[in-house]
Parts: sequence; C-alpha cells; structure tokens
Amino acid sequence: MSAVSTRRRFIEIMPFAGVALLAACSPKVEPPPAVVNTPAPPPVAATPAPTPPVVQEAAPAASAMPLVDETAAQAVALGYVANHTRADTVKFKSYVVGNQCSTCALYLGKAGDAEGPCPLFPGKHVAAVGWCNSWVKKA
Ligand code: SF4
Repeated sequence: MSAVSTRRRFIEIMPFAGVALLAACSPKVEPPPAVVNTPAPPPVAATPAPTPPVVQEAAPAASAMPLVDETAAQAVALGYVANHTRADTVKFKSYVVGNQCSTCALYLGKAGDAEGPCPLFPGKHVAAVGWCNSWVKKA
C-alpha cells in the first residue's frame, strides 16, 4: 500500500471511528422505567335507580257484595225496594213510614253503613234505606 492510499483510507474511516468512539464513551441512557400497570380501581357502585313511588291501590269499596236487584224473584216476592219511600204500600200493607233496613232486626250492616247483609238475600247487600215486607223491628 502506498502512503496516499493509506491516508485516503484513514480519511474514509475516520468519521465512522469518531462516531464509534463517541458512542463508546457517552453515558448510557437508561430507558424509562416500565409503567407498572396498577389494577383498575373497583367500579364505583352505581347509584341505585330511584324506586318508583308505590301506588296505593284504592281501598276496596265498603261492599264487596252486589246489591240486591229489586227485580230479582226473591226481591219481588218480598217487596224489596232499595229505598223505603218507594215501598208498594198497596200490595204490602205492613209498611209503616220510616221503616227501613237499618232499623230492621235482620239487618247485619253497621250503623252508618250505606248497605249491609241481610239473611234473606244471601250473598247480596241490601241498602240501609231499603225495605221489604219481612221488616222486623230491631230490639
Ligand atoms: S228483612 Fe229487613 S233488612 Fe232484610 S231486606 Fe227486609 S227490611 Fe231489609
């Protein structure tokens, strides 16, 4: 090898040697610490949905039993009317003004009730102001 070629060769490799020397002498750069995955926080309990207001069912009617139908055979036979003022005084001479179911001994309704049971009409209610020919004075 000639001196020119040696010098040329030196010039060619010098930049690479310098870079290599700098890389070897420079402090190593530590990679950033790995991010440790922390467990996800527990899910926040969802606020319970507001409960819908409780709808109160309407109180059952005072009477769960149907009223006596004035046109039913038993009612016609006894002259029952839902209002004593309509009593057939021609056919039923026993009617006395003011007599009504609420003052009858057979009436099972409570004082003040608009209607109540009567053993002559099972499964039905009679009106407190009703009347029939079987009226008996309450003791
Ligand atoms: S028996 Fe008395 S309570 Fe019964 S329907 Fe006749 S009047 Fe009313």
